[in-house]
Amino acid sequence: MRILVRITTILLVFSILYTAEIFDEKLLVDVLIAETEQFEISSTTPLQFREVNSPVSIEIKGQVQIQLIDSAYHEAIELTFSTSDKNMQGESDRKLEWNNNHLVFVKDETTKRESFLSEDQLNSFLEKNINVISRRNIKIFEGQICLTQNSTKQYLDLPVEVVSASPITISITGFNYTGSLFISIENEKMELINRLDFEEYLCGVVPNEIGTNSPEEAMKAQAVAARTIAVSNLLSRKHPHSHYDLCASTHCQVYKGLYNQNSITKKSVRETSGEILLFNNKPAVAVYHSCCGGRTEDSSIVWGGSKIPYLTSKTDAKRDFISPLNTNSKAENWIKSNKSVNCKDNKESSSWEKKAYSWTKTIQTKDIEEKLSIKGLKNITIQERGNSGRVIKMTVKHSRGTLTLTGEYKIRSSLGNLPSGLFYIKSKHPFQIVGKGSGHGVGMCQTGAINLAREKQNYKKILNHYYEGCNIAKMKIKQEHQ
Ligand SMILES: [Zn+2]
Ligand SMILES: [Zn+2]
Repeated sequence: MRILVRITTILLVFSILYTAEIFDEKLLVDVLIAETEQFEISSTTPLQFREVNSPVSIEIKGQVQIQLIDSAYHEAIELTFSTSDKNMQGESDRKLEWNNNHLVFVKDETTKRESFLSEDQLNSFLEKNINVISRRNIKIFEGQICLTQNSTKQYLDLPVEVVSASPITISITGFNYTGSLFISIENEKMELINRLDFEEYLCGVVPNEIGTNSPEEAMKAQAVAARTIAVSNLLSRKHPHSHYDLCASTHCQVYKGLYNQNSITKKSVRETSGEILLFNNKPAVAVYHSCCGGRTEDSSIVWGGSKIPYLTSKTDAKRDFISPLNTNSKAENWIKSNKSVNCKDNKESSSWEKKAYSWTKTIQTKDIEEKLSIKGLKNITIQERGNSGRVIKMTVKHSRGTLTLTGEYKIRSSLGNLPSGLFYIKSKHPFQIVGKGSGHGVGMCQTGAINLAREKQNYKKILNHYYEGCNIAKMKIKQEHQ
């Protein structure tokens, strides 16, 4: 059975999702929260441990220590009755339908077709119908875990699903999670995968991306942007060949379970439920950053690729009064100026907002030399800037020649992880660097969104300012079988 996800408002048909599933019209996602050989789990209500591939189930109250004891895995073969025998080895991109009847496990660790054919259990099958398939394409993995509580040990075969009526606490992250926990195995480690409703997942993302004290309308704008990114991550299969859809780090979006969730963060997700940003009827690239510093940046300047209409540089203010800051003098004058823009700090700003808007950093010459593996650093010259003023090309003169650095992220990290690429060098040896903004500068400026919300703008207006030309649509999840 093939499950398709359709966003009815935009008629986007998702092809088969690797692990995401639909249940009761709700999209369930699998989020990798940790990889480990050992961890502790607890809940205020009894924990149910269930072997996914058998009826074995045990219930334990209190805290349990879980250890991986056997990471041996078995290769799999697929038996088909229609294809020729041309697929001797696994095809890495093959999409498999999950069907127990088509999979047989043999004990030897081998991918040789001949070895499979020698197995007794396969004698009854026609030779040409046997294909060896890559293990990583299958949602079956093997290994055993040991559950220890007060010196009592119990063993279970992976994969294992853990559920409880109350949130589950995982020791290695220190966070509590709703939904269920799947323990699978990959590269001789347990993968801890939180399966939960998509909207609940977003509740665990929003507070970690914009903070817990932001005004409600800014939080709602963040919820829509985060939902749009998550949908794009699912559609593009950001983690192909994995047992999960999304990870819990910045690679996808930061997810920390119930940590930092409060009534406003939850409300912001609930009241924008299902809403995503569309451009040309497709989910938009709804990227965001802490603070643009005055002008947002073109996505093509930061990540290359062609220009995206709604991600082009613009003044972050009601009036477009800042011309492109793409020369050193324009950028320097802007950084020194005190003019007001949406993200400029004010009396209501929190300390992180203030720090994000303007900053000064001092970096020792030897630290830059170490970072760039050079000796005798003489001078740094800024060669090129994007329209937001972010430095995208810089030369470093040293005793043995000149080094050219390109890309705003590389430049920021070479100078001791500067908050942003919008800076000028005030003095050298040590290097005193003065700048504005925090992050790449593309898309929504979070500190700007926060100030717009303080000025009573609603989230739709805020999103319209930062993603001009996109519209908001309500996503509906439908289940279809093929
Ligand atoms: Zn990821
Ligand atoms: Zn801004």
